[in-house]
Amino acid sequence: MYNFAAGPAVLPAEVLRQVQSELISYKNSGMSVMEISHRSSLYTEMEAEAEADLRKLMSIPEDYDVLFLQGGATLQFAMAPLNLANRTRRIGFVDTGHWSQRAEEEAKLVTGIKAEVVASGEASNYTELPQAVELTENYDYLHLTLNNTIEGTMYKELPYTGKVPLVGDLSSNILGQEYNVTDFGMIYAGAQKNIGPAGLTVVVVKHSFFKDAPQLPAMLSYAKQAAKHSALNTPPVFAIYVAGLVFKWLVQQGGVAQMQQRNEAKAQLLYDYLDASQLFKSPVKKQWRSTTNVPFITGNQELDQRFIAQAQSNGLVNLKGHRLVGGMRASLYNAFPRTGVEKLVEFMQTFEETVR
Ligand code: PMP
Repeated sequence: MYNFAAGPAVLPAEVLRQVQSELISYKNSGMSVMEISHRSSLYTEMEAEAEADLRKLMSIPEDYDVLFLQGGATLQFAMAPLNLANRTRRIGFVDTGHWSQRAEEEAKLVTGIKAEVVASGEASNYTELPQAVELTENYDYLHLTLNNTIEGTMYKELPYTGKVPLVGDLSSNILGQEYNVTDFGMIYAGAQKNIGPAGLTVVVVKHSFFKDAPQLPAMLSYAKQAAKHSALNTPPVFAIYVAGLVFKWLVQQGGVAQMQQRNEAKAQLLYDYLDASQLFKSPVKKQWRSTTNVPFITGNQELDQRFIAQAQSNGLVNLKGHRLVGGMRASLYNAFPRTGVEKLVEFMQTFEETVR
């Protein structure tokens, strides 16, 4: 079967097999990776390797810290303002839909922070993204959601934003789309889409960006987390382990450039069909279409439901769209195979013929 879930999502089969093969005894230790101490060299070596592979994959320079945290991308909605908004205490938000709005709402709850929408895709019902962001005021940073998991829009290139540091939510396209880390002050991503199991959040942050942060509770402080290599308390060892295996798999596959090419080709198969179809259509303007999350609709809710149910019984699972927008959504992350997209398009063609 093919799993089109938006997250938790499909993992590479090779990685799952490796997890299985060393589940009972990790590196001949006689213990599973879930049972080893996070103070042991088995753990610290594994964590260091995962970090080194991620640095290689994303060309992360030495003056950026890589943190393996918990709390999901959602905790970063609050941690970023707590740690990074120290000068003007104002943050600009590009409103690109649901997740950017959640990020803005959380920032507003941090005492003393002013979160302001500086550009919005609302007029197009979030089927388009703001292209240039003119900042007339002074902000500590500008928050951007690079891939909008629900609306199916993606910034393939960064919009013009001037000199203000960028904070980027890459939850649904990290390692699937190439970006220059140095264009950002900080990026973050929940792991459960394109990296590994839920319970891990990857944060990449420029060291100098949080140097003026106030004293914060340890778990909320980039400085304290960085000083302890993300192990100031018990880290999510198993999730970091699986993420590390996924990073190795990505290196073997040819890295992010290769994944991006494959993702573009996979998504194109589906978009080409959608554009030619008399029944299904993509609500998103061509320029802004995501390669990792592809929403589509028939325009008839009853038909959508029938399609989802029949797809499910044909082994094409988790195609139901997000509850906020309805319709269907095919998430095509790095580990999602091209054959799954081919099967989906075939099935859509058959379905379309039967309802004509
Ligand atoms: N940002 C984006 C773009 C997302 O897609 C999601 C999850 N769907 C989140 C943030 C929230 O992630 P988490 O569940 O890890 O808090």
